Amino acid sequence: MNLKEVVVLGSGPAGLTAAIYTSRANLNPLVIEGEPSSTTDQPGGQLMLTTEIENFPGFLNGIMGPELMSTMRGQAERFGTEFVTAKATKVDLSSRPFKIWTGDPQEAEPTYSAKALIIATGARSLLLGLPSEIELLGHGVSTCATCDGFFFKGQEVAVVGGGDSALEEALFLAKFASKVIVVHRRKELRASKIMQERAFKNPKLEFQWDSVVDEIIGTESVSGLKIRDVNTGEKSVLPVTGLFVAIGHSPNTDLFKNQLEMNDAGYIITKLGTKTNIEGVFACGDVQDDTYRQAITAAGSGCMAAIDTERWLESQLD
Ligand code: NAP
Repeated sequence: MNLKEVVVLGSGPAGLTAAIYTSRANLNPLVIEGEPSSTTDQPGGQLMLTTEIENFPGFLNGIMGPELMSTMRGQAERFGTEFVTAKATKVDLSSRPFKIWTGDPQEAEPTYSAKALIIATGARSLLLGLPSEIELLGHGVSTCATCDGFFFKGQEVAVVGGGDSALEEALFLAKFASKVIVVHRRKELRASKIMQERAFKNPKLEFQWDSVVDEIIGTESVSGLKIRDVNTGEKSVLPVTGLFVAIGHSPNTDLFKNQLEMNDAGYIITKLGTKTNIEGVFACGDVQDDTYRQAITAAGSGCMAAIDTERWLESQLD
């Protein structure tokens, strides 16, 4: 069995900060960093889908999300962190060392085992649940303006949502699109005041209040959206060629169901820092935080998880 002192699952700011700290503590961590498979689940986490980050301390003029993540990864590598580009497909936390599979979960032997496990698998974008949404992902429907915005140069697009993500997407899209319509199910935005101010000031942005998307029109590409006023029931068509869904996130915790304690929304419950209900298993970042969800808080909790892990491993030697 490929026994490791520490395995870190996930490579967003939480996982990479945990890796930097545990590698500097000579714990030779292995980071299972994910696979570049979809727009919502990739090495580097959600910041790979972000443009400029203006609120991560230490960068006077801001930094691009992917650049911040590649710098953090390099920093972890510098201290000896090992990376594997794969997704964990199964974990068994019923006894120590903990067992982790990255290939076929039916295999009898796990791919790795770990004395301590740090879970930093993050969260992913939520979708509206419309039948055509998945089929049209990558064909006019997107959860990532940074990835796909360029394709909508000179076109009219819609963004669904009223939080910071929706406005961030809308403002980014306004650089390419001729018009960006923010479709929000209420009359007030949930986004922070500064983002609202920027959005209201942008001449390319329009708001469709009290409205929901009932249907995406198109089979191989998007030619419009059927929307409905939630108060009057009145239906109309928005003639847009792109739909960006920015309605929040869900934690990546399927692997740990029935093994770790979670709240109703599926976020891992941590106590006394980053401890889970299983001794030796720690959780950090968005996978256990449905309140703050910032790069800096994720990084901070990754540091906490590393320190908690180091102390716990030391206590096992007594
Ligand atoms: P969020 O704050 O939870 O907002 C989600 C938005 O989507 C809400 O406006 C919600 O409407 C709407 N929504 C949810 N489900 C919907 C559905 N089924 N149909 C239509 N609309 C739906 O999520 P977020 O914008 O992703 O932000 C998450 C956290 O990250 C926040 O703390 C945010 O401040 C932070 N963030 C910060 C930045 C930044 O600082 N630059 C950027 C992005 C995110 P209701 O308002 O009616 O609930």
